[in-house]
Amino acid sequence: VAKAQGRNTYCFYEHQWEKQLKERQLIESNLRHALERKQLQLYYQPQFDTMTEKMIGVEVLIRWFHPELGMIPPNHFIPIAEETGLILPIGEWVLRTACRQAKEWQERGFDPVRVAINLSPRQFQQQNLVATVESALYTSGLEPQWLELEITESLAMKDAEFTIAMLKDLRAMGVSLMIDDFGTGYSSLSYLMRFPVEGLKIDNSFVRDSIESNSSALLLASVITLGRNLNMRVIAEGVETEKQLTFLRKHQCDQVQGYLLGRPMPAADLEKQLNKVSDDDDRFS
Ligand code: C2E
Ligand code: MG
Ligand code: MG
Ligand code: MG
Repeated sequence: VAKAQGRNTYCFYEHQWEKQLKERQLIESNLRHALERKQLQLYYQPQFDTMTEKMIGVEVLIRWFHPELGMIPPNHFIPIAEETGLILPIGEWVLRTACRQAKEWQERGFDPVRVAINLSPRQFQQQNLVATVESALYTSGLEPQWLELEITESLAMKDAEFTIAMLKDLRAMGVSLMIDDFGTGYSSLSYLMRFPVEGLKIDNSFVRDSIESNSSALLLASVITLGRNLNMRVIAEGVETEKQLTFLRKHQCDQVQGYLLGRPMPAADLEKQLNKVSDDDDRFS
């Protein structure tokens, strides 16, 4: 009986493995055409100043709508795009599209907001990343202060000297840089401090756990304090409850982002929440 069971188990695992491999191949082969077939779309999630409650930025989050497979979340295809190198054309498309969108909103008279873009480690291995960013800004006409780039700790750790030089170039251009998913990486703090970043985004998990126990709350408060002591701008992501928001406000976290305040949404929906610059000037017209 044991033997038979063992065989069954083996078959089961082989099946799972085969299924996963097929799924991966399916995603990979379809991803190759996703761009040209216009299946990729950008969603925008608002970011707010904690004290004034004013929208100050939007994080750009990619979505893939496949006609048969449905919506494929980024966590399912970004890692594959990374491995295959497809993230390079996709990442450049994200950058150019988001810059153009931000500029378009400004031209239509909305109060300017910063667009924050996620960069993959693979994009940082490209010698021409700085030139690509420069070109995206130049062709869209967006001023660099409205562009923010989110990088991960693990990226920062790879080939540090090369990365630091690149980050300095981007910073010199006037683009703002943030460390994403802060606290989930394995980097040492002294190492991290060498990176010319403007601020950090505290990972979802810290915010989620903060209300569950005193020690988690203490941890979250410490990270905010750390950021502030380093003169960094601190954003908390994944804010889902009023309780979390109150906590973050009390501990003077600069900015907040999360489902409580706004989900990622298409550009057309987001702009309904943008303020017209001219609203304040109405009395002059
Ligand atoms: P991330 O950069 O850490 O983005 C935050 C993720 O948290 C997003 O997931 C967002 O939708 C989600 N989120 C926002 N508020 C809440 C909340 O209150 N609760 C919870 N539970 N989640 C919240 P999403 O859109 O599925 O993206 C997942 C990851 O995929 C991103 O994590 C980012 O690493 C990557 N990604 C997304 N778009 C791009 C892109 O254009 N380029 C690259 N390289 N990576 C991207
Ligand atoms: Mg991000
Ligand atoms: Mg991330
Ligand atoms: Mg995150």
